[in-house]
Amino acid sequence: MRETTWIIDVHSGEMTVEGLRQSELKELAKDILPSGKSVNCARPINIAPLRNSATLNGGPSLRVFRIYHNSVVEGPGRRSVLQTSGCLTRCPNCFVPETHDINGGVEMKVSEIVERLLDPQDAPRDGVTILGGEPFLQPQGLLVLMQLLRQRGQHITLYTGYMLDDLADRNDRTIRRILELTDILIDGPFVKELSDNAGEWRGSTNQRIIHHPALYLLTNILA
Ligand code: SF4
Repeated sequence: MRETTWIIDVHSGEMTVEGLRQSELKELAKDILPSGKSVNCARPINIAPLRNSATLNGGPSLRVFRIYHNSVVEGPGRRSVLQTSGCLTRCPNCFVPETHDINGGVEMKVSEIVERLLDPQDAPRDGVTILGGEPFLQPQGLLVLMQLLRQRGQHITLYTGYMLDDLADRNDRTIRRILELTDILIDGPFVKELSDNAGEWRGSTNQRIIHHPALYLLTNILA
């Protein structure tokens, strides 16, 4: 039997169900639920890519595909989410091929990204999630962003299509620092054949949920 996850957002009153097709959900709960909407990756509805309106006046920047709030499926609790542009991994059946173009999205100053992510109108939030595309394609901007989010007391969940071990093998100071600032890393490519019963936050069961990856490396790989 397929695993399903039912999430109720106590602030908005919305319920998200993962693991069922809309027709299956209707059959299962037609007596108690109103008709719902099918949502790709179970993300909030009505989120649009950013348009080219940002202006750059120096300072660290990132190529951004979109920013949205109130995600309850991409890390613990309720998250504000940054989706970066650009990915070279090309997992078959990727849910977000529109983010693959490394020249796609909009170039934004990191300071502006932080202000948009922490917009008080979209509080409360339990933290920020950074996903892609592939965030590690832009390590310099990513590091500055994470440092600023940390200074603002944010819990950070970070997704990558790379394996943690491969990131560690690069022996890159910036990547090491990023991992030190990460509360939860979800690593590895998406594999459609392993997508059933992937459980919370992951797209497929090969992906790992690694709490404090820098510490994990110290105790499990480098030891
Ligand atoms: S790493 Fe993520 S964005 Fe890149 S192809 Fe795989 S699933 Fe898609």
